[in-house]
Amino acid sequence: MSDCLFCAIAAGEIPADVVAATDRVVAFRDIQPQAPVHVLLIPRAHFDDLPSVADADPALAAEIVALAAEVARSEGVAATGHRLVANTGVDGGQSVPHAHVHLLGGRSLAWPPG
Ligand code: 5GP
Ligand code: ZN
Repeated sequence: MSDCLFCAIAAGEIPADVVAATDRVVAFRDIQPQAPVHVLLIPRAHFDDLPSVADADPALAAEIVALAAEVARSEGVAATGHRLVANTGVDGGQSVPHAHVHLLGGRSLAWPPG
């Protein structure tokens, strides 16, 4: 999709600190990290949000979660614990309208979130 920030990152048109990638998914560090480990996982193809990915291509949603598990291991937060978050829509506080999952870890995370 033109004019989409994360489409541009997926295409390599806007630089990002990529930590892992597959044919269909890219993982890169959040520009404003909220924890010592804060990685975003996105499908290369444009979807507005994660439920849209799950509806259209459940295997792709599973690939996103599988890469998150891999990154949790490579970032050293698999054993200590971590959190996957998919802010969705207005009430969910989604600010970038391209599907993404946050991987947060490296500190004790409060619950419930605000
Ligand atoms: P949301 O609020 O939609 O759940 O998450 C969007 C995330 O994208 C935010 O945590 C924000 O810091 C991150 N972000 C916004 N613009 C950029 C960017 O240009 N590069 C990177 N790496 N992250 C970004
Ligand atoms: Zn996009």
